[in-house]
Amino acid sequence: MLTSNCCNATFFEPGWPDNDICSSCKEHADVVDNQEEMKLLLIKENNRWINIDNKHINYGLDNALHELYMDSGIRKFIIEDDKVFCEKL
Ligand SMILES: [Zn+2]
Repeated sequence: MLTSNCCNATFFEPGWPDNDICSSCKEHADVVDNQEEMKLLLIKENNRWINIDNKHINYGLDNALHELYMDSGIRKFIIEDDKVFCEKL
């Protein structure tokens, strides 16, 4: 998600860079892309979860997360609609 570099808030209206007003302090702000701090692990395609690193396919999110947990030792996942991330170490 794109957030302001002053308050880590969202922008006043969607559509950056047309609108660069921080929604928290109402000042102009530079953008920070939080996703750069996260590593993409899984992506959902056709109801299957694909492991980005080893291309393993799992039919359920539980199985896919379990595999990551066992293989990589990752203990904390960030789950969005059709993507799973972990924080970059
Ligand atoms: Zn701000």
